[in-house]
Amino acid sequence: MTWETAKKIADFLMSLPVVEDEVIFDFIGGEPLLEIDLISKISDYLVDKMEQLNHPWLKNYSFRFTTNGLLYSTDKVQEYIQKYQERLAIQISIDGTKNKHDLNRIFPNGNGSYDIVIPNVKLWLKQFGNTVRPFMVISHDDLSCLSESIIHLIELGFKDMATNLVVEDVWKQSDDCVFEKELFKVANYIIENRLWNKVHLSFFNDELGTKDKEEHIYPCGNPMYVFDAQGNIYSCVRFVSYSLRNKPNRIIGSLTTGIDYNKLRPFLSFDQQSCYPPKCLECDMSAFCRWCPAENYDASESGTIFQRTTTICDLHKANVRVKNYFWNRINFIKEHERS
Ligand code: SF4
Ligand code: SF4
Repeated sequence: MTWETAKKIADFLMSLPVVEDEVIFDFIGGEPLLEIDLISKISDYLVDKMEQLNHPWLKNYSFRFTTNGLLYSTDKVQEYIQKYQERLAIQISIDGTKNKHDLNRIFPNGNGSYDIVIPNVKLWLKQFGNTVRPFMVISHDDLSCLSESIIHLIELGFKDMATNLVVEDVWKQSDDCVFEKELFKVANYIIENRLWNKVHLSFFNDELGTKDKEEHIYPCGNPMYVFDAQGNIYSCVRFVSYSLRNKPNRIIGSLTTGIDYNKLRPFLSFDQQSCYPPKCLECDMSAFCRWCPAENYDASESGTIFQRTTTICDLHKANVRVKNYFWNRINFIKEHERS
């Protein structure tokens, strides 16, 4: 992205009606830290602009990155971190053990990146302490490394882990059994080491597997505006052409024409009745069962975002069984110790 486009995006954002008094400026790639000079310049520009306008976001803004961490310790990135440390949320993608990490996160020559990223991960932990949250994605190929990878991350010092099953149709028969077995190992490790008050793992979120309560749902949180290098606007980076397998990109506007509210509206209209299939509407364990509007779009024949995919159905049910076991066993231990 050129500086001119980046600046136009900042001006565009500042011209929007303020509907929220909080904003996250999220730099997402590819790999964002390759462009740290541009990011630093645009961050300064955004802050100057908010100050000039006395913008409500000035009190509550942050810069967020999801990075592969390879450039984390370079002088330029460290200077940026020092400048904006109070306003930063950085997420380094670390998949677990060397084996698991190097399955996917490789250089163009095929070499894995684990050995280079790990010292940077330790620096990140030192600089941001308990606020850091590694991002781990799990699919069929690395399912059998799941428990050792999560335990490895706990031993590295992570206290809070966001783990996601991919929603694409990559799963094979019996994957739910492997997943359940792996999650049992993690549950037992946490229980045996009495870490349940110290480590938070999204798979054991207390509300996971209860019934979805909200009428209006948007599985990704608030809709966002995503800008590409040409100045097109999307509702998520997953709707940009390089993130899609089968469908063309899905643009909701551009810097020159502004936001097309007819194209944005569907993203604001999700509710259970409009996109859950009957089995999900009736399901008693739907809370935190993941799905993604962009994957709906990519996987559907018609290109609708309203046809919820259910590829992780059996895995989610396995997750709920282990989560129930986890909390039941902890409650039993606590009861036993009280009596
Ligand atoms: S995909 Fe399966 S587990 Fe998830 S909400 Fe639907 S029926 Fe329930
Ligand atoms: S559209 Fe999909 S990938 Fe994008 S934020 Fe929502 S759930 Fe995540």
